Amino acid sequence: MGSKVLGSFLTENLTELKSKGLYNVIDPLESSNGPVIQIAGKKFINLSSNNYLGLATDQRLIDAATAAIKKYGVGAGAVRTINGTLDLHIELEEKLAAFKHTEAAIAYQSGFNCNMAAISAVMDKEDAILSDELNHASIIDGCRLSKAKIIGFKHSNMADLHSKAKEAKESGLYKKIMVITDGVFSMDGDIALLPEIVEIAEEFDLITYVDDAHGSGVLGKGAGTVKQFGLSDKIDFQIGTLSKALGVVGGYVAGKRDLIDWLKVRSRPFLFSTALPPGDVAACITAINILMNSTDLQNKLWENGNYLKQGLKALGFNIGSSQTPITPCIIGEEKQTQEFSRKLYAEGVYAKAIVFPTVPQGAGRVRNMPTAAHTREMLDQALAIYEKVGKEMGILS
Ligand code: PMP
Repeated sequence: MGSKVLGSFLTENLTELKSKGLYNVIDPLESSNGPVIQIAGKKFINLSSNNYLGLATDQRLIDAATAAIKKYGVGAGAVRTINGTLDLHIELEEKLAAFKHTEAAIAYQSGFNCNMAAISAVMDKEDAILSDELNHASIIDGCRLSKAKIIGFKHSNMADLHSKAKEAKESGLYKKIMVITDGVFSMDGDIALLPEIVEIAEEFDLITYVDDAHGSGVLGKGAGTVKQFGLSDKIDFQIGTLSKALGVVGGYVAGKRDLIDWLKVRSRPFLFSTALPPGDVAACITAINILMNSTDLQNKLWENGNYLKQGLKALGFNIGSSQTPITPCIIGEEKQTQEFSRKLYAEGVYAKAIVFPTVPQGAGRVRNMPTAAHTREMLDQALAIYEKVGKEMGILS
């Protein structure tokens, strides 16, 4: 029969969410997660995935994963330190270090648990973390888990970061102070001000931590935001995911050998959770090889991103100030934004509404994630649908 208190907690809260239109219904895809997807028998142009380079469905990755599964089976069998480390895991980590231009790297089962793992392995209650207010949820949770004092700074506001870093340092209250930022902020597509952050970090001896989930494979000829700014030897922690541009699953830290050695003995998801499966690891290795040998996919991604941006802007939409292929279409009011996304869906474009509290109130947007796998025809079709819905709803004149 179950707990009464849990029953009433769930009923009350689910009813409230549903009445406010905030309960998210999840659509099951009947196809692979490519540029065109199928839901309930209908095809959609997909502008909602993080599969930036189209690698999630790339035949070379599929072949590598299939061969690895044939050789190693489907599971790693154990936690890495017990007997779950395969030679493939070591190869992946060596590749990641080369890709990121660092001494070493460590792989985790997801980007989310990588942030859980890495922050709390180094920071504790005697420390402080300066965190950009728009950092990803996994950074926020990783910071909380560490028990360090969390000091938020205004989004990409270097004066605020400087004064908070100075205050924290001069207070003498903390043993270590870290500054954490996303490399690319996924809601607006803006890039962190890494050279300024590094300058402030050098002034106050801050540990630097950049989560480049949305920059890897996209910026710096694929190597990411840190490489783009030429700061590979100045950022202590370079975090990335294997799930977005690389198209598979997993997360990693790239950095100095000592840091990686420490994470291998002190980060809990590494020590207590089963390793990445061999097929996924082999696919990731292949993805990195592709990225290190050619920029064709990145070029295509940027070309498609620029085309979509220019098209939406020419129609008269507010596309914010993204510096990456992420293309928000800012509608404003929450209900109208959701209605806009629903109408796009009815016409065959899958682009999700993102509203408060994920973005500030009144800044609701439909976020578009063009990929290297989209064709010009798909983007033209999406633009025509945007125009139709924009006019129907009176957003475009
Ligand atoms: N960090 C950032 C900045 C992200 O955007 C995400 C994914 N949304 C993650 C970490 C988590 O990555 P993963 O999906 O690989 O767990």
